[in-house]
Amino acid sequence: MPQDAPAQPDSSAVMASFSIPVGSASMNVTLKLPTARTTLTQILPVIRNIENAIVESASEEIQASGAAISCRAGCGACCRQMVPLSIFEAEALTAWLATLPEAEMIPIRERFHRTLSTLRDAGVLDTILEGSWMLDEQRTAKLAEDYFRAGVPCPFLIDESCSIHPIRPLNCREYLVTSPPELCNDPWANPVSGVNLPLRLSRALFAFGQQVERGPCGWIPLVFLLAWGESGATPGESVAGSGIEVFRKFLDQVSAVSFAKPADPQPAEPS
Ligand code: SF4
Repeated sequence: MPQDAPAQPDSSAVMASFSIPVGSASMNVTLKLPTARTTLTQILPVIRNIENAIVESASEEIQASGAAISCRAGCGACCRQMVPLSIFEAEALTAWLATLPEAEMIPIRERFHRTLSTLRDAGVLDTILEGSWMLDEQRTAKLAEDYFRAGVPCPFLIDESCSIHPIRPLNCREYLVTSPPELCNDPWANPVSGVNLPLRLSRALFAFGQQVERGPCGWIPLVFLLAWGESGATPGESVAGSGIEVFRKFLDQVSAVSFAKPADPQPAEPS
């Protein structure tokens, strides 16, 4: 299983404290950030840790209310949905895949190939590539349902567990339910109770992605990761500076998406 990389590319780092708006409250965090030039992609480990803290805090509140998160290792029902992957996370995952020996890459490539073939046979791939679904909420919802009904597991799902758990996308961390796990076998037909997180950091990455790409999306379906990686794109370079500068830019984006009416296409979420 991959381990999360250290937050800084070198040993020269500074501790900095920030206040992050989380719903109607705020979360104070103290972070170790590199003083040398870094990129948004390189500080993803810091962002993942903050996301984990947001999820943990939400889980505690849910427990205090007498309910509980029902998501567990070994339950990968939601991993049949289309996963929106920010282009910065795509860059980081591409770099990680490049470190793997060929013997490990062969089955990964096979799983991606199988997934894309099944989606193509189900007619879903053409819809994704055609692209107009992302400008229309109804068509986005229809695509999300068609994708799920194609029944293809995420290429990183092995034995119903995430094989890249420490570096899994933010969107995967944000998908939590309190209803019985078996209902997730068909969230469109069942009354699945999703956790409404007060802040989803994935949305800030999507917004950065829209700016970098000058397009309406800012993310790719995770199943396109290998093809996307072949482009050699390095979107993180567009949001670069010292660690503190980059994190401040990220926080500005978090504030912007927290107070803005959601405009990005919404991926499938539990209702
Ligand atoms: S990356 Fe991991 S958690 Fe996310 S959909 Fe794939 S297997 Fe599931």
